This record gives sequence, structure tokens and C-alpha cells, in this order.
Amino acid sequence: MKRRHVWCGAVAMLAGLTVGVLAQAQGRRDFDAEYRAAVQGAKDAAGFEFLGTLVRTCLLPQSGGENTSDTVPDYVADPKKAPARDTWYAEPAKVFDDVYFVGGKVHSAWALTTRDGIILIDTIFPYNSEELVVGGMQKLGLDPKQIKYLIISHAHADHIGGAEMIQKKYGAKVVMGAPDWESVEKYPNRFKTMAPERDIVATDGMKITLGGRTVTIWLTPGHTPGTLSYTFTALDRGRTVNVAYSGGTAFNFVNNTPVPGIRNFQTYIDSQKKFAEKAAAVNATVLLSNHSEFDEAVQKNRMLGSKGPHPYEIGAKAVQDYFKVMEGCARAAQIRLEQRQATATN
Ligand SMILES: [Zn+2]
Repeated sequence: MKRRHVWCGAVAMLAGLTVGVLAQAQGRRDFDAEYRAAVQGAKDAAGFEFLGTLVRTCLLPQSGGENTSDTVPDYVADPKKAPARDTWYAEPAKVFDDVYFVGGKVHSAWALTTRDGIILIDTIFPYNSEELVVGGMQKLGLDPKQIKYLIISHAHADHIGGAEMIQKKYGAKVVMGAPDWESVEKYPNRFKTMAPERDIVATDGMKITLGGRTVTIWLTPGHTPGTLSYTFTALDRGRTVNVAYSGGTAFNFVNNTPVPGIRNFQTYIDSQKKFAEKAAAVNATVLLSNHSEFDEAVQKNRMLGSKGPHPYEIGAKAVQDYFKVMEGCARAAQIRLEQRQATATN
């Protein structure tokens, strides 16, 4: 019996090899093997640190395409339709000496303090930015009137939702990528109550400096055409640490047809490679995101104050692994589209 099993295995292996060799000889690609290798690479990089990112980008069904409608969202047309508070409320937290979490259970916003005012990153939805961002800052002893710059990582309602209110109320200068400014201007209904006036158009390598502190902006198109990511420093109990902030993660672009899906995935992959290099160049050991699903912000906030290492400081290798998860999952999805294209043309 034992011998037979060995034989069966050997025969199966040989058969597999023969199919692979035949496919190669005929110039055909083994798409399944390529797909499995890409997913495996993402799984290996994810470990336990980035399960949320892996699940969202590799395992869950994708959304299939971008929203091209211009309709007023339900929760703006009728505020009573906004999700219940207990589905989104989370306590704000002082994460580093000069970085404050003012987000919710699902979405994050971050306040960076400087001696001359505050740089705010993202604003969550129109229905909860007042309580989470403004209220969160006040709870932590920060004055929202001190917000000088507001950087929006991309123009989706879960990040730009409070930008119009914060610009109007506090006069903050809003920074956003060019294509996302265009999309806000193109869809007045979709961005109703969420449309700041155009202030600063982000460029690659742009430095936003305030009170001796600098946020360097990197254009990372993919999630949206104008998605921004950043590198900056933070102080952990007086010690400087380098932060990489990843501004867009899920595959929200058209991703279910080879054209333009293959190209869209390539844009996304190129951005991950580029930003991984920027993160490595500054030796980023902290990874921040605008969704807790990707950086575990809400869980990590609960671990703050422990005597051990800072819960957000995961190390330079883990920061690089984050981008490998995104890149591997995007590549896997892109291989499937390449497969579809090859099958359709053969
Ligand atoms: Zn988004």
C-alpha cells in the first residue's frame, strides 16, 4: 500500500510536470500556478500583522468598479439614515507625543501637532466628522482652530466627509491630489456637503511644513487616481520614529474586466512598489492607514501605555511586508484578468 502511494504521488507529480512542460513548450502560461504564487507571497508577507489587509485585498470578492454616479448619498439627503453611532464611535487617543488618533471604529483621522498649529489627515464621513474629529481633538485637549492644513488621502466620502466643514469653520488649507480635486468638482451631488474649495494640489515629493514639522507627500494612484501617501516623523516618548502612511488600499477601481482592469492593477502595483521604496528610504518602522482594518489602529490604541514596545512600531521589515501584501494581492487579481484576456483571444 505504502509503495503504491509513493508511486501514485510520483506519477501525479510527473503528470503535473509534463502538463507544465507542455504548457511552456506551447508558449502557454500556467495562470493557476502564477496566481497561487502571488497569493502565497501575500500570505507569507501578511503573517498575523496584516490579516485585515490580506482578507480585503486577496480573499473577499472585489467591488467590481468605481462609482460613476452623481447622486446625493442617503445619509446626506436624510441624516436620519446615517449608520447608528455605536457602529462607528471609538474613543480618540494620543498615539505618539505629537500624533493623535481622532477616528472611529472603522475609519481613521490623525492630528499631527506642531508648535505653530495642527496638520490634520483625513476627516471621515459628514455625519460623524463633527463628533469624531472635532470632538475627538477637543477631548484630547487640542483646539480645532489650530488646524492649519488638512490633507485628504483621497476623495471618497469616508475620508473627505468633513473637509468642507473644517475648511469653512477653521480656515484650514486643504491639500488633495489633482484627479481627486477634479472628481469632487465633477460630481457635486455625490460630494454634497463634502466639497472643500480647491486650495492646494499635491505634487509628488511636496513638503507640507508647519512649525518645524514636515509631511512629505507621495502620489500613489491606484485606489483612486489622486490617492496620496505620506512619510513623516513622530516622537515616541521623545524618540524620533519614521512613519509611512498608506492612503488607499482596496481595489475600488474598475477591476472586473481585462480592459482597463489590467492597466489599473499595474498603476496600483507600481504605486505600492514606489511607496515601499520611499518608506524604506526613511527607515519607516510605523505603518499608518485610514482604515483600522488595515493597521489595527483601534486595537492598538487599547494597547497604548504598556511598558513594552510601542504597539504601532512594527519595524522596517513589517512595514515593507505591508506593501508586499497589497502588491501580491493586486498581482493575483491582475493574473486572473490576464488569464481571461488570454482565453478570450485564443
Ligand atoms: Zn477609499
